[in-house]
This record gives sequence, C-alpha cells and structure tokens, in this order.
Amino acid sequence: MGLAIYLHIPFCVKKCRYCAFNSIPLPPGEDGELLVSRYLRALKEEISLYTSLLGRREITSVYFGGGTPTVLPPGELSSLLELCAMSFTFSGEIEITVEANPGTIAETGLRELRSAGFNRISLGAQSFKPGELELLGRIHGVGEIYSSFEEARNAGFENINLDLIYGIPGQSLEHWRDTLERALSLRPEHLSVYGLTLEEGTPLAEDVASGRVQPCSEEEQVVMWEVTEETLSRRGYQRYEISNYALPGKECRHNLTYWYNLPYLGLGAGAHGYLGKTRYANHEDLGTYIRLISKGELPRAWEERQTPEQERLDTIIMGMRLRRGLSRKVFQQRFQISFDQLYGTQLEEMKRQGLIGDDGENIFLTGRGRLLANYVLAHFV
Ligand code: SF4
Repeated sequence: MGLAIYLHIPFCVKKCRYCAFNSIPLPPGEDGELLVSRYLRALKEEISLYTSLLGRREITSVYFGGGTPTVLPPGELSSLLELCAMSFTFSGEIEITVEANPGTIAETGLRELRSAGFNRISLGAQSFKPGELELLGRIHGVGEIYSSFEEARNAGFENINLDLIYGIPGQSLEHWRDTLERALSLRPEHLSVYGLTLEEGTPLAEDVASGRVQPCSEEEQVVMWEVTEETLSRRGYQRYEISNYALPGKECRHNLTYWYNLPYLGLGAGAHGYLGKTRYANHEDLGTYIRLISKGELPRAWEERQTPEQERLDTIIMGMRLRRGLSRKVFQQRFQISFDQLYGTQLEEMKRQGLIGDDGENIFLTGRGRLLANYVLAHFV
C-alpha cells in the first residue's frame, strides 16, 4: 500500500498571536544556524531509521508543513526531498507540497523548489485585511500575499492553496466577503478555510478572556461559513471536506490520506504518524527529539496500537468529514463487516434528526450535521 510522508519544520519568523502549533521563532544569527543544522541532521537520520524499518515503500505524497518551512534555505528543503526520493519509491503521480508564508521566499527560491520536484504550494494568507493580519500577529501584509502568489505562479507552481481564517475578532461579514473575493481574484486551485479557534494560552485567547478584544459570536461564524460555501460553490470550487474547497481534480491528495484513515509516516518534532495499525506522535521538544535520534532511537513520545474498533471509529469520524462521505463498500472491504450491521441503530437516529444523509452507497453529514459534527460523531463512539 502507498504511503504519505509528512515532514515537520518547526521554525517560524515569529510566533503568531493565535498559534498553538508546535513551532518556535527561529533564533537569530549563529544560534539559529546551529539549531537548524542539528535539527535537519536529526530529520535526515529519522528518514534513514524508517528506511531500514519500512524498506523502499511507495510514496504517494510528501508534505512539508510547519512552522514555516520556507524560513529555511530552499537548498535545505530540496536536499530533504532528495533524501526521501532516494530512500523510498516515489509514485509517478506524486504530490509534493510545501507550506510557505507570504514574504518568506523569493521567486528564485520558489523556482529552485519547483525544479527540485515540489509541485504544490500552500500559502498562509489568512486574511486580506491589514487590521486583521495585525491582530493575528502575522508577519506579512496584504501586498505580500499578492506578490508571493504571483511569484509562485511565475516559478511554475500550477497547484496553489491559500489558507484563510474567518471568525477573527472584529471581523464583519463584509470584511470576510472581501477577503474571499480577493482570494478568488487570484484563482488558486485550492482553498482551506478555517474558523478561528481561540487556543488556550495564546496571546489572542488571553486578550479575549480579559475583554480587551471582542470575539466573533458562534452565530456570526455560522453565517460566515454559509457565505463561504455559497460564494465558493458559485465560483466553481467544490467543498470536498468540512473546511477544504478545490477546483475539479485539485483536491489535496495528501490530506485525503488522513480522511480516508490510510497510513502515513510523520517525521520531525511533534509529528504524528500512522503505520502498521500503530498511531504515534514524536516528542515536540526539539532537544529531546534530537537527542533520541542521535542515540539511534525513534523519537516517539507515545504510540498506540489501534484496536479494530478504534480503526473503525477513526474511519467513520474522518470519512464523514468528506462531502462524499463514507463509502459502505470501502468500509465492508476494509473491515469485513457491513456498516449497517454495526451502526444501523445510530445511523437511523441521526438520519431521523436530519444530521446524516444516505444515498444508499455513501453516508455523509448533512448541512446541519456539519455544524453539529462533534455531536453526530459522538453517537458512533
Ligand atoms: S506561521 Fe503558522 S506555525 Fe508559524 S507561528 Fe504563525 S500560525 Fe504558527
């Protein structure tokens, strides 16, 4: 079976005010250079550890995420990719994505990445309103979103994603419509559109808790979600997952691996993986991660062998996030038992409440079910 690879690059220029991801600001000067070189050495050794464990597995997608991978020199990213290509067998149609923040890479660097084999880029635009970018603590302005997008196109990227966030404190519906329109004017192949989550411990969540900043209400967020759905579908983008939209044929293959609950290799500090029915997460702390690898050990903070029941539940929970839903046939082939036999009662109840749709082949969340996704999925646990 093919495998997806996720590589985590935990460095950013500075920490955004809403961010709870495993990322740190890259220290300036020699300290930063030393840390990066130790981290990259560890990442390369981790690739080698897995090559010995897995052999030359076929790879269907590679995703460089972060953090902000493009704070590293393009040559370093290319050399990691080259090592992956030498260690595994890349499928002919492989999708290779790099995440980038506007303003962190110039056109020459983008060309270098393109010729090294990266064929998809995901730009963290988040908003086209200067005040909102500032509130989020982003390092870039609106102008840099446009210029980075144009440079990526010039460099030969024909598959570009833009990340956008709605539900930013102080954001009006008009502002959100405007952000959507500006994003659409660039005609990206893919849009990931997330509602802002206020993560505990982040400066933005503290501002909201102390009353310095007024959050968007849940009702406002629902309206923004509906406007997104309506605007993007009118412009030819199909929502294929709760938060992801694509032009026909441009769904992100890497992310589909997660939603189909298929195996993937997670590499780097804090990365998660799913291999041979075992889920694992690497240590988030860079020092611990580097130390364990230097001793020749897998840098895992935890791992858990999935029971057949957990695997079924994960397959349902993730499959239902997809617009086309969970295929009864695929479920039966994978688990050798029919979905209805196992979950017929819960399914009928959710259908009765109008939260799940069923076309005979696939089972999927309805519009209302998507808004209450956690409630629905809890019925299958
Ligand atoms: S760029 Fe992304 S990973 Fe880095 S601090 Fe901002 S939100 Fe977090």
